[in-house]
Amino acid sequence: MSRLWSPGIAALTPYVPGEQPKIVNLNKLNTNENPWGPSPRALEAIRSATSDALRLYPDPSAEQLRDTIARYHGLAREQVFVGNGSDEVLAFAFFALLRQSLPLLFPDITYSFYPVYCGLFGIQATRVPLTDAMEIRVEDYRQPCGAIIIANPNAPTGVGLPLGAIRTLLEDHPEQVVVVDEAYVDFGADSAVGLVNDYDNLLVVHTLSKSRSLAGLRVGFALGQAPLIDALERVKNSFNSYPLGRLAQAGAIAAFEDEEHFQRTRREIMETRAGLVERLTALGFQVLPSVANFVFARHRAQDGAKLAAGLRERGIIVRHFARPRIDQYLRITVGTQAQCVALTDALVTLLGA
Ligand SMILES: *Cc1c(COP(=O)(O)O)cnc(C)c1O
Repeated sequence: MSRLWSPGIAALTPYVPGEQPKIVNLNKLNTNENPWGPSPRALEAIRSATSDALRLYPDPSAEQLRDTIARYHGLAREQVFVGNGSDEVLAFAFFALLRQSLPLLFPDITYSFYPVYCGLFGIQATRVPLTDAMEIRVEDYRQPCGAIIIANPNAPTGVGLPLGAIRTLLEDHPEQVVVVDEAYVDFGADSAVGLVNDYDNLLVVHTLSKSRSLAGLRVGFALGQAPLIDALERVKNSFNSYPLGRLAQAGAIAAFEDEEHFQRTRREIMETRAGLVERLTALGFQVLPSVANFVFARHRAQDGAKLAAGLRERGIIVRHFARPRIDQYLRITVGTQAQCVALTDALVTLLGA
């Protein structure tokens, strides 16, 4: 806090990202990074782009990348917005589309960046409780609101919402923007991308950080009808003309051109997840049904915070949220088979099983 700050800065509650420890050799299962690494083609494209051309600004409208994404998803360039990670894309969406006079609706348990953006942009929010089964019930959103945002699958629960429910949400609120944050959709949930041409109030947000293993490159994008994308462009061009550098644009384009790597690695994670769920269940955990690259689990007898601390002492980091309703849960990223076995082995010791 300083007398030199602008008004309101002291009152902000910034997002706290999962720890990025400096210690090597930790089994890092806390931030949903992908253990399989990016496509070699993406790395090669980034290396090729590392040249004297870096003295030049990148394409401010990232046309080639937007064309690549548009083609991949069967849309037009005007229906694609790209940004510096989907967190930035979400920030622009909050400012350009979700900042209305009526409150924004989102689940009580969801991605914790949503309330942070509300604080930053002065957006009033109403949190809609998940059911006891930790599911989104779209009927609960039938109330006056300015806009809606949900994550599908939800974070940190990993629970998916069927496409029919998303259709209902869109049809219940034709005058409101509905943002569906699909950061983890490639690990088994139903994507709403196919609905973009049917609903002018739908914006779908994706990231290359999870299923394409490029968290360090910072590329995310939004898909929607042209007027929604235009609003995002207006905000972006009032903030930073070049959120994506040359290396990010080159790497992201190449990542979409390696379908084989994408399919193989996401399948690997879904298979590893099934084995992890089985072993956690056998150890006395209650595991929510996950369609993400993480599982959300609580032990029937042992305290969540204590388990997280015990794992840490054994060099394994998972995420624990000291928040109402979820403080007994651990969010565990699906790593390699070996990482997951190391985790369950450590739990066997901790639980004295
Ligand atoms: C990881 C994540 C994001 C942000 O991803 P970026 O790395 O900023 O692209 C957005 N939404 C959810 C729900 C996430 O878990």
